[in-house]
Amino acid sequence: MDSSLPDRVVTDPDVARTYGVDHSPGAVAPEAFTVVRARDRADVVEVLQYAAAHRTPVVTQGARTATTGAAVALEGGIVLNTEAINQVEVDPVERIAVVGPGVVNGDLKSQLTAYGLAYPPDPASSGSCTIGGNIATNAGGLCCVKYGVTADYVRGLEVVLAGGEVMRTGRRTAKGVTGYDLTGLFVGSEGTLGVVTEAVLRLIPAPDPPLTVLAVFDTLEATLAGVTALREQRHTPSLIELLDGPSVAAIQDYGDYGFPAGAEGVLLVQSDRVGHAHEDVMAYADALTSAGATDVAVADDRAEADLLMEGRRALNPALEARGSRLIEDVCVPVGRLGDLVRAVHEIATRQGLEATCSGHAGDGNLHPCFFFDQDDAAQVAAAQAAFGEVVEAAWSLGGTLTGEHGVGTLKAPWLERELGAAEVARQRALKALFDPLGIMNPGRVFG
Ligand SMILES: Cc1cc2nc3c(=O)[nH]c(=O)nc-3n(C[C@H](O)[C@H](O)[C@H](O)COP(=O)(O)OP(=O)(O)OC[C@H]3O[C@@H](n4cnc5c(N)ncnc54)[C@H](O)[C@@H]3O)c2cc1C
Repeated sequence: MDSSLPDRVVTDPDVARTYGVDHSPGAVAPEAFTVVRARDRADVVEVLQYAAAHRTPVVTQGARTATTGAAVALEGGIVLNTEAINQVEVDPVERIAVVGPGVVNGDLKSQLTAYGLAYPPDPASSGSCTIGGNIATNAGGLCCVKYGVTADYVRGLEVVLAGGEVMRTGRRTAKGVTGYDLTGLFVGSEGTLGVVTEAVLRLIPAPDPPLTVLAVFDTLEATLAGVTALREQRHTPSLIELLDGPSVAAIQDYGDYGFPAGAEGVLLVQSDRVGHAHEDVMAYADALTSAGATDVAVADDRAEADLLMEGRRALNPALEARGSRLIEDVCVPVGRLGDLVRAVHEIATRQGLEATCSGHAGDGNLHPCFFFDQDDAAQVAAAQAAFGEVVEAAWSLGGTLTGEHGVGTLKAPWLERELGAAEVARQRALKALFDPLGIMNPGRVFG
């Protein structure tokens, strides 16, 4: 790149290679690509002017935790990393934070504690993923059941478009209905419309530290009855996570987290309601016992609450330790969760694979996971077939192919079947309006 950004361009090939892939299974970095670590909006403008002039594809990147291939470098393209644009300005009166896209989600949360404020969206990757990536994927997480997703907290954006034009969307104020909601259009657009260089985020008063209930069930049916019982509570839990039997076994194989052998389901439930968390978790425990839990543990204080969550936190490392896997991200109506878990187990058995099915039960958003031997072509094919069958199962249950991870490249082949040809054509036309040269993350979302 003949730009004036030599110190922003990563020249060490070994370092550059680490920017080649995201967390998607089997991602392969291309042979040749240029990595630019932007430090501010001016850097982004310069890169996008260069890219337009040379018709070069641009993949914007945060922390590369995407599981869909959305942040994988493209051959001959530019990787535009925004992690270093990470300023944070908090306005406690307006309850907003104006942040750079590179701020790590967990770091923002930590900085807000000094103001008694909170930014709720909490992907399980919050220790490393960035706000820019969260906005581009409309990230969810564990507490969405009570607080909603990233889109519910983005009031306005500064975006640099292909060619270098800077545009602003939305507002800083609590209300505003001037014109179309272009902020909403950019949230979840997976880097295909422009580069987010600043965001105005809505904050809330910090809730109480959550207390936890852990309930063990010996049948899947009773576990799902527990979820239904929680839906009947007057106060929405701040977290309802489900582990199916194979997930519990995988976690116990990874380390002793105290789950009994033979558990066919575990629910983790929290309340952070100011002044009422203890009362809430006692009510949740009663409801879960009535639903058929065989063992219920209630945390009395924050340390115990964290301890009860340890097994859930071990899920991702436990699954990673089992080797190659394809992770799904479908979302179904909460009332159809049991049908989804049963469908995943049936698909796995038929395809001769092992599978787990766990996730955000309160939102109907589960992450079925199929394990396979990468050196066995038949197993690779079986896992790919299972991946597609889960999408079909989610549709048949009234659900959608992605709840929070996005489409990326992995799910692009199914986009048109969910949206229909006319809707995809309208969305492509929208992309062309903002990116007429088609150089912003090409191939992602639309395939
Ligand atoms: C262990 C693990 C747990 C996870 N748990 C969750 C979870 O609970 N909930 C959830 O929603 N996701 C989860 N994810 C997926 C992932 O963490 C999220 O999608 C996250 O939002 C990606 O952020 P990132 O900074 O890593 O972005 P990247 O992976 O770098 O990029 C993701 C997308 O954002 C775009 N992008 C990045 N920065 C910008 C920018 N400044 N402007 C425009 N586009 C940009 C990229 O082009 C790409 O399309 C998990 C992933 C892992 C590995």
